[in-house]
Order: sequence, then C-alpha cells, then structure tokens
Amino acid sequence: MAERGINVTLFDKARGPGGRMASKRRPSATLDLGAQTFTVRDARFLQLIESLENQGVVARWPGVSFEAGNAGWTRLDDDQRRYTGAPRMSAITRELANRLTRFKHVKTHFDTRVQALTKPGDGQRGWALCADHHQPLGTFDTVVITAPPPQAEALIGEWDPVLAQACSARAQRSCWAGYVVFKTPLPPIDSVIHWESLHARHAALRLVSRNHTKPGREHQPESLSLLAQLDWSEQMLERPAGEVACALYAAFRSLLPRDIELPDIVELGAHRWRYAQASAPGHESYLYSEQGLALCGESFRGSRVEDAWLSGRELGNALAELPESYRNQTSV
Ligand SMILES: Cc1cc2nc3c(=O)[nH]c(=O)nc-3n(C[C@H](O)[C@H](O)[C@H](O)COP(=O)(O)OP(=O)(O)OC[C@H]3O[C@@H](n4cnc5c(N)ncnc54)[C@H](O)[C@@H]3O)c2cc1C
Repeated sequence: MAERGINVTLFDKARGPGGRMASKRRPSATLDLGAQTFTVRDARFLQLIESLENQGVVARWPGVSFEAGNAGWTRLDDDQRRYTGAPRMSAITRELANRLTRFKHVKTHFDTRVQALTKPGDGQRGWALCADHHQPLGTFDTVVITAPPPQAEALIGEWDPVLAQACSARAQRSCWAGYVVFKTPLPPIDSVIHWESLHARHAALRLVSRNHTKPGREHQPESLSLLAQLDWSEQMLERPAGEVACALYAAFRSLLPRDIELPDIVELGAHRWRYAQASAPGHESYLYSEQGLALCGESFRGSRVEDAWLSGRELGNALAELPESYRNQTSV
C-alpha cells in the first residue's frame, strides 16, 4: 500500500515489529521465541527473501537437524530449504518496518494497543480508533486488522457480524516456548558431533533449536529455544511460566544419554503464545467488508510466515484497487 501511495498508519501494541516472529534479547544471548525457521514456496515471497538474504538479514538455517526419541538420535535430512532471520528472527520484521520510513505518507506507532473501533459522529464514513484509556488515535477510511482472529474479533464483533463469525471459525492453537541459557557449551552427545535443531518425539517437547548456531549469533553463549507440543501447551496453558520452563527443560534432559552432565544454567524461562497458529489452514487470503474493515494474517491463508506475508500483500493490492474515496487513510 505504501508503494502505491496510500496514506497508512500502522499501530502495534508491541515495543517493536515482530509479532510471532519475535526474539527475546537477554544480556548474554538473543533467543527466538516464536517461529525458528520458515520455508519459501511462492515466487513473490522468494523474491523478498532473496533480497533480504543479499542484505544479510535472512540466512539459511539449520544445516544439521536431528530427531530424538526412545530409540536415540537420528539425523534428519530432507530437501526443504529453511531460512531464519540474522542475527535474530525479528531482524526481518525490523528491516521491513525500516523500509517504510522512506515513505512520508506512512506512519508507524509501536507500544500502541488499539483498544476499540467506533463509528465517527456526524454520519461520517470510516472508523475512529482509540488506544487504552480512551486515548484517540485518529479516524480512518479503512481499518485492516492483522492480529490473530480472536483478538481481531474483540475489535470488530460489535460492528461486523460476518467478519466476527469468520474470526470465530478460525480456532487458534496455543504454544509454550521455553528457553535456557547455559554458562558453557553443551557437551557432545554420543556419535552426534554437531547439531543445530532437534525434532523431539516427546509428549511435552516438539522442537529444540540452538540459538548460537544461527547465523550472526556465533559469539553468544549456548542457548536453546524449547518449543512445546501444542496439545501439551493447551493442557499447561494456565500454569506458571517457571513451572512450564522446568518441565520443558526436563523433557530435553530426558532425550540425552543419562551420563551426560549439563552445564550450569544462567537463565531459564518460558513465553506463552495463547494464539500461536491456526488449527486449520484458511481458504481465503483475506477478508474485506464494504464498511471499510479488513482482516488478514497467517490464519486466513495457512499457518506459516509465508502465509502471513502473502495474505497482507494480497489484501494490500486489493485495497489499492478500490476507489480512492474508500482508502484515503488506512490504519493497520
Ligand atoms: C511458537 C511458534 C512457532 C512457529 N513456527 C513456525 C515455523 O516453523 N514456520 C513458519 O512458517 N511459521 C511458524 N510460526 C508461525 C508464524 O510465526 C506466523 O504465521 C506469523 O509470524 C504470523 O504473522 P501475522 O502477521 O499473521 O501475525 P502476528 O505475527 O501475530 O502479528 C500480529 C501483530 O498484531 C499486534 N496486535 C495484536 N493485537 C493488537 C491490538 N489490539 N493493537 C495493536 N496491535 C495488536 C501484535 O503485537 C502483533 O505484532 C510459528 C509461530 C509460533 C508462535
């Protein structure tokens, strides 16, 4: 939309761009807490990712993956090319947000939660947005909501029953993401000389990634992201983060040979994604109503990073084709 000259104001409740591609910066290490890697299938997305790869913001990772369960560790090889952000996953969203700064007609506001949408008075078209404590954020012809469907529904439920129904039809799965930072490197494991990511066959644990093996983080101390199984996450959803972190760490420990001694822990924690991913892929890329409300994001298309980007891109192009009076001022 920015490239097509449309006035856009972007609000995000988080401190920076990232969403489910967020990274946590700790004093000694940077940990990816959402997506660890992503794949590329669509030629349009490939073009973006290649440009980011040339800039050093995206790199191929992991190089060496294993699978671990009762039968031990086995090397996992598939032909799928996977990417990550460098030097952290949120470097990608930061770069995309930075690219917006060259457009004078685009404004971005972080740390700003859109709390409500109302119709402006005097029979005017469009939507008035307000933040927490009823702070007005402005009036816009069109509002695009990219939040996960349950959060989008809370904003539009009162105004658009059809879009609200589309949101409630898109159930979301939850996921706990644990992390651990060690004082010294992990010891080698039997015949495994080097590993970067581990697919766990465990009731609690799904995926382990070694953050310091990701491009641009070679100088950080050893740290792991511990992604939980979705069923387990939902059973543990309301448990304290400390308890969840200990359980995920114990699950990882159980996949190692008993005689291995693990290094001292500097930090152990967990982040809860209440809305981590759509439970089933959507069939539309985005939704738009005549009232000037639109929904997009991964849940409308699939459940992957690529789906999120394509959904936004396709909606942006569709809105740009609308008569100008519909989208003079758009908020996202
Ligand atoms: C643990 C985990 C593992 C994953 N693994 C993979 C993987 O291996 N491969 C893959 O391709 N994908 C993976 N994904 C999915 C991928 O991260 C998402 O599909 C993608 O990042 C979603 O992008 P989005 O823009 O649709 O939504 P989001 O990234 O959720 O963005 C929504 C934004 O809306 C903001 N927001 C919400 N409500 C408000 C409000 N009221 N006011 C203002 N701002 C608001 C949020 O702060 C957020 O920045 C994973 C996700 C998680 C959580």
